[in-house]
Amino acid sequence: MRYLTSGYKKDADQLLNGAMFDVAYDEMVIVKDIEVFSLCEHHMLPFFGKCHVAYIPNGKVIGLSKIPRLVDMYARRLQVQERLTTQIAETINAKISPKGVAVVIEAKHLCMIMRGVEKQNSTAVTSSMLGDFKDNQNTRNEFLNLLHNRS
Ligand SMILES: [Zn+2]
Repeated sequence: MRYLTSGYKKDADQLLNGAMFDVAYDEMVIVKDIEVFSLCEHHMLPFFGKCHVAYIPNGKVIGLSKIPRLVDMYARRLQVQERLTTQIAETINAKISPKGVAVVIEAKHLCMIMRGVEKQNSTAVTSSMLGDFKDNQNTRNEFLNLLHNRS
């Protein structure tokens, strides 16, 4: 349990310290299929799945390996999927002020599978879209198309 909640002992400043770089690149950066394991705060049961993160830099990028670590930091806490999604997006937004950020999480919840509605194959999908991803339909579609082209 201590490990599963070890994200409380970390903070984004410490995690991203020294891993933000000035770069002229201004196309979409996507890190997809990041494995997520978290615990639902209502039932203390796991939920797990994939997280996809995209942003459009505005002069700064985050070291690519730090994005899964940021996801882990927030996932290793008692969570609700909606909040987890928003926290990842808002942290990236605050740290590098990109033109836009998008986070999508697709997860299965043991609290839905083992109890309650007992639906074995349902997946909960949450998203947080900020900046260009919120305001520009083309940008959002480009991101969603890239996610669904699984080759
Ligand atoms: Zn639950």
